[in-house]
Amino acid sequence: MKRMLNDPATFREEMIEGFVAAYGRYLRRVPGASGVMAAGSPVRGKVSVLIGGGSGHYPAFCGMVGPGFADGAVIGDIFASPSGEQVYRCTKALDGGAGVLLSYGNYAGDVLNFDAAQERCRAGGMDVRTVLVTDDVASSPKGKESERRGVAGDFYVFKVAGAAAARGDDLDGVEEAARKANAGTRSMGIALAGCTLPGQSEPLFTVEEGRMEVGMGVHGEPGVRSSEFLPASGIAEILVETVLADAPENAGSRAAVMLNGLGSTTYEELFVLFREVNRLLGESGVEPHEPLVGELVTSLDMAGCSLTLMWLDDELQELHDAPAATPAFARGGVDLPGGAGGEAPVSAAAPAVAGTPVAVTDELTESGVVARDALVRASEALEAAEEELGRLDAAAGDGDHGAGMVRGMRAAVEAASGAGGAAGPVLARAGAAFSESAGGASGALYGAWISALGQSLGDGEPEAEDVYRAFESALETLQRIGGAEPGDKTMIDALDPFVRVLGEAVKDNPSLPDAWQAALPAAEKGVEDTAGMVSRRGRSSKLGERSRGHKDPGAASMYLVLRAAGEALSEARQP
Ligand code: ADP
Ligand code: MG
Repeated sequence: MKRMLNDPATFREEMIEGFVAAYGRYLRRVPGASGVMAAGSPVRGKVSVLIGGGSGHYPAFCGMVGPGFADGAVIGDIFASPSGEQVYRCTKALDGGAGVLLSYGNYAGDVLNFDAAQERCRAGGMDVRTVLVTDDVASSPKGKESERRGVAGDFYVFKVAGAAAARGDDLDGVEEAARKANAGTRSMGIALAGCTLPGQSEPLFTVEEGRMEVGMGVHGEPGVRSSEFLPASGIAEILVETVLADAPENAGSRAAVMLNGLGSTTYEELFVLFREVNRLLGESGVEPHEPLVGELVTSLDMAGCSLTLMWLDDELQELHDAPAATPAFARGGVDLPGGAGGEAPVSAAAPAVAGTPVAVTDELTESGVVARDALVRASEALEAAEEELGRLDAAAGDGDHGAGMVRGMRAAVEAASGAGGAAGPVLARAGAAFSESAGGASGALYGAWISALGQSLGDGEPEAEDVYRAFESALETLQRIGGAEPGDKTMIDALDPFVRVLGEAVKDNPSLPDAWQAALPAAEKGVEDTAGMVSRRGRSSKLGERSRGHKDPGAASMYLVLRAAGEALSEARQP
């Protein structure tokens, strides 16, 4: 697949720079972070709305920043959540003293990272709230609305929140308006062809000739079912029927209506489809209010569309209709803050923190060397397996697991090598660097896990028993943060059996390298077992039975990491 880019690894960075260069009259870069903020923001005494998520969805999220809409957007790599550190920096930059509302689509990776940032901001005395967007009808049944993914409904929820903040509502009010908008919003999508990540040759899923995917996600997550390919009238029927069948309680007859193209659908096709949608809505007694037809929340170059309705009462309609001006959307006359943009203190070349070399103050101890070597070997193993991990993740997720792990582990190696100390401090700083660079659910989880290992190892030279204890406690941390149990088809299914056998083995034989080798087969079997499981955590859990039949990517990468660490341990033992 041909793409206009320089290097997939710098795609996000170069994209933000070009975006800010083009739209400096609306917004500027958040200094030192992968985000943008509206020109003139934060406004003293006004609530700010920070939106965000992975890249690959333009105009979501950066294109929705400007007066009357979001005050800022923080973005990760393609389809990967921004790290907790990035969200934290953007939230702080946007605080005008009246607090910040975080709003984004409901994905495990985003929730982990935004929640971590929210906690840090609150600990620092800021008022920060969260409203998740959960509009995707296909992703969870009625009655479990709060578990649904956020898709194109993002647009309406962000617009309403931004308008409430712009008219001067306090944080309670802005939060309430956003919740109300989300409660009244429903979406459903179909795909004719999957999307391809920059730098890869194959799409994340393929759709057979004569078929289409119904209810797919906006990150290349395959649909919840496959259907025969239908003409526009048939597609419109599926979309309208599904959305109307899920209408919220007390839905009136007025609704904002959006027919959203997913990236490679022509506007002309969308209009043909909208003709049918409009007719069907009219027949069902729904009065479309200011319909939008076009690309609002895309999925790279996916072919297909989604239909979103936000049922309106007078208050929601007022906020929906309020003026706004952003790079991708304009309504009514809005004055942009004069002289903003190009001249604003844009720090386009702000250094990424993870890459900042730390002065070498002292030497690595013996255990510090082993820990660093384990990370180096893990990084090599992940690089060799990057494509395979991506393929496993594409089966039921978004295909980014290999890329995220490689980014994270490279940063971890750099951080580990940047200073001295024992295994504990080496892993503590490696974990922080990992989550900063990897993004996604696994960025937050692996990062927290590696940091927790480091913290429980402490500053001394650990014995085999100490290492086992550290693994036990880091596993607990991982489960506390992610909420996964064994059997949920996650990295836990490789790690948990490993830790249990390691504990037994260390009791019988205090040689850590031996105990490690004895425990590895349990992790390997754990990975194999995930193929028969149905995912209950993370993005793939939305696919239900369709997630069965493939090994879990996070479990597969966990085994690679553990095996690589075992090699470093065995090598250290050689005279
Ligand atoms: P994302 O889902 O954000 O794209 P990745 O693709 O990098 O993140 O990682 C997906 C992996 O993360 C899954 O295969 C699974 O092993 C792991 N994972 C997801 N959610 C959880 C969770 N709550 N607890 C433990 N592991 C999880
Ligand atoms: Mg993924």
